[in-house]
Amino acid sequence: MAQDLISTPLQYIKGVGPRRAADLARAGMLTVEDLLLRFPMRYEDRAAPCEIRHLKPGMTATVTAEVVSSGVRQTRRPGFRLFEAIVRDATGGITKAVFPNQAFLKDVFTPGQRVVLFGALEYRPSGGLQFTNPEYELIRPEKDADDEDASVHTGRIVPIYEKSGTMTPRMQRALVHRLLQDLPKDVADPLPAPIRERRGLPSRADAIRAVHFPPPGTNVDELNAFRTPAHQRLIFEEFFLFQAGMVLRKRRHAEDRKPRPVTVDDRIRESARKVLPFKLTEGQRVALREIVDDMRRPEPMNRLLQGDVGAGKTIVALLAALVAMENGLQVAFMAPTEILADQHYLTIRRLLDQSRFRIVSLTGGLTPAKRREVHAEIASGTAQLVIGTHALAEADLAFHALGLVIIDEQHRFGVMQRASLRAKGRHPDVLVMTATPIPRTLALTTYGDLDVSVIRELPPGRQPITTVSKSESKREEIYRLVRKQLDARRQAYVIYPLVEESEKVDLRAATAMADHLQQEIFPEYRVALLHGRLKQEEKDRVMSAFARGEVDLLVSTTVVEVGVDVPNATVMVVEHAERFGLSQLHQLRGRVGRGEHPSTCVLLYQFPLSEDAKARLRALVETTDGFVIAERDLEIRGPGDFFGTRQSGIPTLRVGDLLRDHALMEEARREAVAWLDEPAASRALAAYVSANWAARFGLVGVG
Ligand code: ADP
Ligand code: MG
Repeated sequence: MAQDLISTPLQYIKGVGPRRAADLARAGMLTVEDLLLRFPMRYEDRAAPCEIRHLKPGMTATVTAEVVSSGVRQTRRPGFRLFEAIVRDATGGITKAVFPNQAFLKDVFTPGQRVVLFGALEYRPSGGLQFTNPEYELIRPEKDADDEDASVHTGRIVPIYEKSGTMTPRMQRALVHRLLQDLPKDVADPLPAPIRERRGLPSRADAIRAVHFPPPGTNVDELNAFRTPAHQRLIFEEFFLFQAGMVLRKRRHAEDRKPRPVTVDDRIRESARKVLPFKLTEGQRVALREIVDDMRRPEPMNRLLQGDVGAGKTIVALLAALVAMENGLQVAFMAPTEILADQHYLTIRRLLDQSRFRIVSLTGGLTPAKRREVHAEIASGTAQLVIGTHALAEADLAFHALGLVIIDEQHRFGVMQRASLRAKGRHPDVLVMTATPIPRTLALTTYGDLDVSVIRELPPGRQPITTVSKSESKREEIYRLVRKQLDARRQAYVIYPLVEESEKVDLRAATAMADHLQQEIFPEYRVALLHGRLKQEEKDRVMSAFARGEVDLLVSTTVVEVGVDVPNATVMVVEHAERFGLSQLHQLRGRVGRGEHPSTCVLLYQFPLSEDAKARLRALVETTDGFVIAERDLEIRGPGDFFGTRQSGIPTLRVGDLLRDHALMEEARREAVAWLDEPAASRALAAYVSANWAARFGLVGVG
């Protein structure tokens, strides 16, 4: 039984009950192990709480005190009432806790009640030093207090948990305390003993105990920074297991064998040269060589091609596709949006015009009859290259001989879609491309199972983009700047934010803006509007008119964000720039500066401007280097938001933090790679990881 405790579902634990179990489950805790691996969000030193007489304004403190009196005070603002409690601690110091509009607390803070208060102190001229809206916890009066009050909730360093539904931090503390008493000393430890010993890490059982109920004397600042040996050990464990899974996954793929690796001869080289409209940059050449080398190997390629916006990834992918097709293999090219898929389709069809290959497009917008026809061509092999959206990953699409899968703008696709497209061939080569430079830290986690090629430089002849951020009040000046470009026969974008919550309003604003620009500002130029709500044909019509230069100024929502390529467009005005994310603005900006003429990007903002928004605009003005921007974005937003969705391949980490702990992640990777190099020793770890990886990290399994 004892050994099983850790895997016991929480609903079977005495005192948890169905309601609490459901609340915990909603917060991601199903088993005792889940609960024990949920770190307290912070710690309070209730062994040595601050004495009230030592409190000072501006300080954040914990005090243990008794309620002297309390009551609701009317304020001069109508309907606004303050609940106030006067409290006194054991040394006789007196202070006040104020809770705006929480009159119900008068039944809670009754005279004689013992409480722990935690929060920031402020000084009010009217009433002196006070806690405003502090966190509080009630302690039973001294006379009724039991052992639990004395030993679990006070008189020690106490863990504070995040509230999960009806499960209060205090209840969770009591529950964890109880479970830890039943926890055996020798909890199974997935960390190999030699690694643990060499790194001087505590055992799993000891670490779990110390992280919840730190031994007396532990430094509270270190606890709150998650830096104690116990914290570090559990974070290392998490990273180590994650990296072990990545290594195993990569190794498993490496055991796969393609039915037939590609070969490259002079005839193929010649056919590639023929389609090439320009000389490849050094970066493109190196990337292409790495890709083709992979394709010639017996094990399937799993490669990420990273290159900033405009670096020229498409042509590299196309040449790889050509090599596959010359070898009698089919190629699937998946793009994240229909606009982008169509654009790739048009570009590639133009480049391969003279070739003998048949290229088809497959998107969600096809009629059923057309779709059937395209499916049939792919199944029979008469079409060699299919370019499309996630419609390519649909279950009823079968290939004749799929040999290469190319996925553009990877982070928009789920790992699932990558897997299901891959499954349509017999171990096809996979090339994923992304224009979001992945900060080193994240690359290690999201793409740890991929090999990486990076195109650093942009094609020659590109003019730098000048970026300025301007307040709305400078609108006239900006219009003059746009007009100058239009007069020089260049084209312009005006970008409108569109967020789901206010979609209707935003759409109306974008539409009104397009009308206004056409009628009042640029009557002699052709203005068009593009947004996601238009019918597919309409979108296509607008976009290709802009690409052909038949539209001078395109007012658009962020549907042009990824990959759209119109080299003659040299100015972009982003309305409400303060509402966009940093990476998104960088992607948008990449729509200009794609041709031979210098370009300008104007970020128009409106007040109020948050600190984050200011930081974003500043970063964009300062640099056009996507890698720098990605690092900044990560700092501002944190890893969870960086990619948007969980499906993106970011693991669900419960104790580690990719930013805070990235050095530890690198060490964990090194240790995992080294450990798994020893087949005999690594068997136990491999078994543990296969059984637990998917559940622990919320990702597609290793096996
Ligand atoms: P991205 O990497 O953002 O997908 P694209 O593949 O769309 O970039 O390329 C951006 C533009 O640069 C395209 O117009 C493409 O034709 C052009 N381009 C790509 N490589 C080169 C090169 N080596 N020399 C000149 N132009 C190039
Ligand atoms: Mg692209």
